[in-house]
Amino acid sequence: MKVFVLFVAIAVAAWQCHGSDHGHEYQIFPLRMKTGHGGHYIPEVSCQSWRLGVEAHNVIDWKTVPLDCEGYIGNYILGDQYRSDSKTVAREAYYYAKTLNITAKDIWVFDVDETTLSNLPYYADHGFGVEPYNATAFNEWVDLGEAPALPESQKLYKKLLSLGIKIVFLTGRPLEQKAVTVTNLKLAGYNKWEKIITKDTSIYHGKTAVTYKSTERKKLEEQGYKIIGNIGDQWSDILGTNTGDRTFKLPDPLYYIS
Ligand SMILES: [Mg+2]
Repeated sequence: MKVFVLFVAIAVAAWQCHGSDHGHEYQIFPLRMKTGHGGHYIPEVSCQSWRLGVEAHNVIDWKTVPLDCEGYIGNYILGDQYRSDSKTVAREAYYYAKTLNITAKDIWVFDVDETTLSNLPYYADHGFGVEPYNATAFNEWVDLGEAPALPESQKLYKKLLSLGIKIVFLTGRPLEQKAVTVTNLKLAGYNKWEKIITKDTSIYHGKTAVTYKSTERKKLEEQGYKIIGNIGDQWSDILGTNTGDRTFKLPDPLYYIS
């Protein structure tokens, strides 16, 4: 019996070795995911591709999440993958920050929505980005001041503070929502910052987020600050000018701001 078991074990080991040593023998393409009956579209796979396109900034200027992807995006954003993706970003940001020699003028720019605070309770009630943006409904939610923290960003925030880095919040929220944003940030556990910059719509009306944020970052640098890091969920948080020494893009398949 022992001899037989040994024989089987050797045979299995030899087979596995053969497989890994001669990868070219595998038929890669026949292993691809099935693409549905007679076609090349199944929602789960197509929605993953769409999300990747969004995160890589190949898909731009989109208005709403594709209708077929509501379930997929809902599962993604409420599930472990979104948290894991966010954790990876925050961890890389911290590893980078740890390598720096911090001075008193070093700042890290944080966006607010879907970066510092999470509007998931709102989006869970509004189709996870499938519904067209409703400013009235969204502002009512913001004005409640109840948005929870995005846990991974909050950990990063605390670690950056412990390294002696100053935090600047730069948000597209208008001046009129500054007070409620401050209240919300404190409620969510953010208690220390160098500045919080909200958008003066009398200056930036009709301007893109890229222009607004670039201009405000430039002002910070003119005040003597050095932007060593910059994190946001939108590409418009990290594109443009004066973007900082390094940028970090958090996932956000819910909406697009140019
Ligand atoms: Mg944001």
